[in-house]
Amino acid sequence: MKPAAFNYHRPTSLEEALALLTELAPDVKVLAGGQSLGPMLNMRLASTAHLLDINDLSEFSRIRLVDGEIEVGALARHHALANSELLRTHCPLLAQCAQTVGHYAIRQRGTLGGSLVNADPVAQLALAAVTLNARLTLVQQGARRDVLAGDFLRSAMTTAIEPQELLLAIRFPCIAQGEGSALQLFNRRHGDFAIVAVAATVRVQAGRLTRLALGVAGTSPVARRLDALAQTFEQAVPDAAWIAAVAAAAAGSVEPEDDRHISASYRRELTQTLVARALSKALERAASHMHAGTP
Ligand SMILES: Cc1cc2nc3c(=O)[nH]c(=O)nc-3n(C[C@H](O)[C@H](O)[C@H](O)COP(=O)(O)OP(=O)(O)OC[C@H]3O[C@@H](n4cnc5c(N)ncnc54)[C@H](O)[C@@H]3O)c2cc1C
Repeated sequence: MKPAAFNYHRPTSLEEALALLTELAPDVKVLAGGQSLGPMLNMRLASTAHLLDINDLSEFSRIRLVDGEIEVGALARHHALANSELLRTHCPLLAQCAQTVGHYAIRQRGTLGGSLVNADPVAQLALAAVTLNARLTLVQQGARRDVLAGDFLRSAMTTAIEPQELLLAIRFPCIAQGEGSALQLFNRRHGDFAIVAVAATVRVQAGRLTRLALGVAGTSPVARRLDALAQTFEQAVPDAAWIAAVAAAAAGSVEPEDDRHISASYRRELTQTLVARALSKALERAASHMHAGTP
C-alpha cells in the first residue's frame, strides 16, 4: 500500500524545523530513519497532513564526550552507535544494544531518537536509556527541557514528547572504574523484536557490589528499571548464590500479561534466565574491564 497524501517538508536548520513544527502542530509527523513511521504510513496505520523530514540536520547525529558524559544526537543511526569506539569505551551497553536491533538495513537508517520516540515495549535502545538513566533533551521554539528516560517513556508507543517538540540529544553516564554491563535478550528469529530483554550494570569495589541497575523489557508496556529490587541486593559479595537470588527476585517482581502467543509465566521464566545471564556477563566484564565486543 501507499501512504495517504501529505505535504513534505525538509528543513535545513534546527530553527527552520522548530518554526515549521510550531506552525503545523499537531497535524505533523517528524521523519527520522523512517523504519517505524514509514511502514505505519504505508499500511495506513498512521496518517499526517505534514511530514517533517529532519535528515538534513546532520549535526544532530554526533556522538561525543561532553562534560564527562556521552552525548548522542537524536539522529545517530543504530549502525553508528554499534560501531562507535567512543561508546565501546565509555558507554558499552548502548553499543551492545544497538548491535542487536533488527537487521543490517534497519540499523543503517534507524536512529536513536526515532527508537526512543517510537517507544516500542521491547526496543533495546529504550531499555539501554532506562537502565542507564539517560537524560533526553527536548526542544521547541523558545524552550528546551530535559527529561529522564524513565519519565519520557510513559507506556507502549507513548512518550512525554509534545507535537511541537523535537528530541535533540540524549546524554548517558560514562562507565566508571569497576563497572561492567551486559544485555541479554531472547527472540525466536534473528532480527525479530525480543520477547524479553534484560540489561544490567554492576559496579564492584574491593570484591563487593556497590551499584546495581537492572532494566527489563517485555514484561511491562515499556522498559522499566527494577530500582527497589536492585537496592536490596547491593552491598553484597556477588557470587553464584547472589546471582540466583537476584534473578529469582526479578522474576517475582515483574508483572507480565498473557497474550495470544506467549504466556505470562514464560515471560517470567525468561526474565529469571536472562537476568542471571546478564549479571554473570556484567560481573565478568567488571572484573576484566573488557567492555567491548558482542553482547
Ligand atoms: C523489520 C523491522 C525490525 C525491527 N527490529 C527492531 C528490533 O529488534 N529492536 C528495536 O528496538 N527496533 C526494531 N525495529 C525498529 C527500528 O529500530 C526503528 O529504527 C526505530 O524504532 C525508529 O527509528 P527511526 O529513526 O526509523 O524513526 P522513524 O520511523 O522515522 O520515527 C519513529 C517515530 O519517532 C518520531 N521521531 C523520530 N525522530 C524524532 C525526533 N528526533 N524528535 C521527535 N520525534 C521523532 C517519528 O515522528 C515517529 O513517530 C525494527 C524495524 C523493522 C522495520
